[in-house]
Amino acid sequence: MADTKIDWHACAQALKIDGRAFIGGVRMPAAGGQTYECFSPIDNRKLADVASCQEIDVNLAVACARTAFNDRRWAGLSPRERKQTMIRFADLLIANKEELALLETLDMGKPITASLNVDVNSAANTLRWFGEAIDKVYDEIAPTADNTLAMITREPIGVVGAIVPWNYPILMACWKIAPALASGNSVVLKPSEKSPLTALKLGDLAIEAGIPAGVLNIVPGFGEQAGTPLAMHMDVDCIAFTGSTGVGKKIQIMAGQSNLKRAWCELGGKSPNIVFADCKDLNKAATASAGSIFYNQGESCNAPSRLLVERSIKDEFVKKILAELKNYQPGDPLDANTSMGALVDCGQMQNVLKYIASGKAQGAALLAGGEQMRTETGGFYVSPTVFDNVTNDMTIAAEEIFGPVLSIIAFDTEEEAIKVANDTPYGLAAAVWTQDLSRAHLVAKRLRAGTVHINSYDEDDITVPFGGYKQSGNGRDKSLHALEKYTELKTTWIKLN
Ligand code: NAD
Repeated sequence: MADTKIDWHACAQALKIDGRAFIGGVRMPAAGGQTYECFSPIDNRKLADVASCQEIDVNLAVACARTAFNDRRWAGLSPRERKQTMIRFADLLIANKEELALLETLDMGKPITASLNVDVNSAANTLRWFGEAIDKVYDEIAPTADNTLAMITREPIGVVGAIVPWNYPILMACWKIAPALASGNSVVLKPSEKSPLTALKLGDLAIEAGIPAGVLNIVPGFGEQAGTPLAMHMDVDCIAFTGSTGVGKKIQIMAGQSNLKRAWCELGGKSPNIVFADCKDLNKAATASAGSIFYNQGESCNAPSRLLVERSIKDEFVKKILAELKNYQPGDPLDANTSMGALVDCGQMQNVLKYIASGKAQGAALLAGGEQMRTETGGFYVSPTVFDNVTNDMTIAAEEIFGPVLSIIAFDTEEEAIKVANDTPYGLAAAVWTQDLSRAHLVAKRLRAGTVHINSYDEDDITVPFGGYKQSGNGRDKSLHALEKYTELKTTWIKLN
């Protein structure tokens, strides 16, 4: 729960927002002076004029990053020195927690309680964890012949371009920059044009923490104007992208068309959540299922948007889901008691409403929600929406909606549940609810997803990898596995005479 004593509206009025880019350690406007207006989805108030970076700005940021990498002002520090700086960086996020949380909520629409207690904390924890980890990672000596020594070492890859989405702005930024910086790289970060404000603030805090100028650069702007020049850049060694599958495909093409930079993509999902009739605690399953699809207004890549329920318990389970909806009614995101906020912008709200209309038109049964809410605020809110009698070929079951819309699909057999669950181009997450241990393991093995939960959803820890099978992407964020994305393996042979 956020501190209910804080008057977040008053804090918002007093907030000074700097929308300039952060390049070479200083704030600056786009070279050509371009800006765009950044509005809050809470009530459509204007928040700031944000630098709209273009190719020339990206080129400058990459040049600063390259210079910083080549002179080894960061890469050349010992892991322990980098660790200490990263921990200071994490501490500064916590010291500035209220401002960061407020920026996140104003910019993106999520409830202040979530920004404060989840997003900013998790972002700081990510920086701290990779900082802490980096002086505990050892390299290898290969078991070669007696008269040779073959060292296998990991080196920073160089200049990392990171392009991130708007749904968890500060956290997605830190999932990229924490392992990239910890392993000694320089970074150019492009936040989403819809939610750039916390990312920009990260630049100021990085300098204050002692990360040398030029090591972290932040170029706000639109995908084609700022993202494409970064993905196409001949002097960027790796592009770490989180976003939609459609743009992820373009990123892979751009990597191939330019310098064959490493292209890591964390993409969309349409995750199945399978509830068997032998589930021991249907109340717990309903609470977790509703909580995970409606958290963050349904704008989560791993949200369990397809609820597969065994037919014999479906009616009972649907009632339990509907009973949960009272906990997710949209409210004022700046009120500490609100659990569902605004969708990120008008366009996203229109998309969600379009999918709801398609569900109705294709014959799904709308049991709850389906409407725009809080229109008097000028903001973009949609009620938690539940469709029953969905079939997996309907558009609402096939496509990622990225909003508070749950599709319920009945099944009769375990085999059918697995088939429907895997019948999607995505493979980010899944869940199985059963008290049969063998069934839990056997079904989990057959689900083609990067994360499978058993009798839970949304378990989360920085120590475990996060990423997808199939068109949900490649590579993994979080855990020590993330370091693989930002390092090259080098073998050094030494002849022993
Ligand atoms: P998006 O693909 O529209 O945009 C993501 C980023 O790419 C933004 O910064 C955008 O400006 C940039 N971009 C857009 N077009 C570009 C282009 N042509 N060249 C270079 N950059 C370009 O995605 P979004 O709407 O911001 O985010 C929602 C998507 O992100 C959903 O599909 C969601 O599932 C996915 N997501 C995935 C994960 C994960 O870890 N797998 C996490 C969060 C979000």
